[in-house]
Amino acid sequence: MTLEALPPLRDALAAHGLMAKKAFGQHFLLDLNITRKIARLAELPDGAMVIEVGPGPGGLTRALLEAGARVVAVEKDERFRPLLEDLAAAAPQGALTLVFADALAADEAALAGGGPGHMVSNLPYNVGTALLIKWLTGPWTPASMTLMFQKEVAQRVVAPPDTSAYGRLAVIAQATSHAAMVMEVPARAFTPPPKVDSAVVRLTPRADRPEPARLDALQKLTAAAFGQRRKMLRASLKALGGEALIEAAGLDPQARAETVDVAGFLRLADAWRAQR
Ligand code: SAM
Repeated sequence: MTLEALPPLRDALAAHGLMAKKAFGQHFLLDLNITRKIARLAELPDGAMVIEVGPGPGGLTRALLEAGARVVAVEKDERFRPLLEDLAAAAPQGALTLVFADALAADEAALAGGGPGHMVSNLPYNVGTALLIKWLTGPWTPASMTLMFQKEVAQRVVAPPDTSAYGRLAVIAQATSHAAMVMEVPARAFTPPPKVDSAVVRLTPRADRPEPARLDALQKLTAAAFGQRRKMLRASLKALGGEALIEAAGLDPQARAETVDVAGFLRLADAWRAQR
């Protein structure tokens, strides 16, 4: 058997008697044209090492394997084992490694075999943001990420200041990465369709990515600032230094969290570390 000879995904699911389970955030992409497009958008180098979270029926996995990637697929739902083993058998020898585990607890450095790894996934909605924060803040961070989220989360990743979507996630994502929304996918493209549309975000690490202690400070500052996003920073950051901190960062004393850009938050983080 080869990848080309595999049955359509719908038939593979039916053959294994599999139905989507809501508790696992399962909404499947059964149209290989869409999964191939996502694999292309990942812009993977030849023979790339890819970690995929939640392969489910394996539509995106197939596309990644067709593109010549080596894939480690981490799936929590054991029911997919036989179907994914068929896929591993059809793929070039050793190209697909299956790991049945919770991705939230996964050791990505070990999964990537000690080298760089790219993250490409149609993420389960219920843990998508938690996984993104884990990969953005490290210690292990991917060489690139091409990730499907519900559209509202994708918008929160790429949002500029002064918009309602701008918040902690935007600041942490954009301080560490170049982030762009590269594809929108309507709810009807999934089986079963979720209630909302989805979008693919691509993130690549910034050369000037903050080192761990600076990133920790940024996380602390953004948590306090956006915890009370309607308040002026001098109130929301009172416990962390309030007005003195805002002055040291060269910000307007009237500023509110959603008006401060990523560079402004980095200056706040630096000022907070300097005063300790
Ligand atoms: N990649 C498939 C596709 O595009 O058709 C499935 C995507 S579906 C949105 C999310 C997948 O993640 C499901 O297969 C689900 O079982 C799996 N999943 C959910 N929570 C997980 C977790 N914590 N760790 C690993 N996989 C998980």
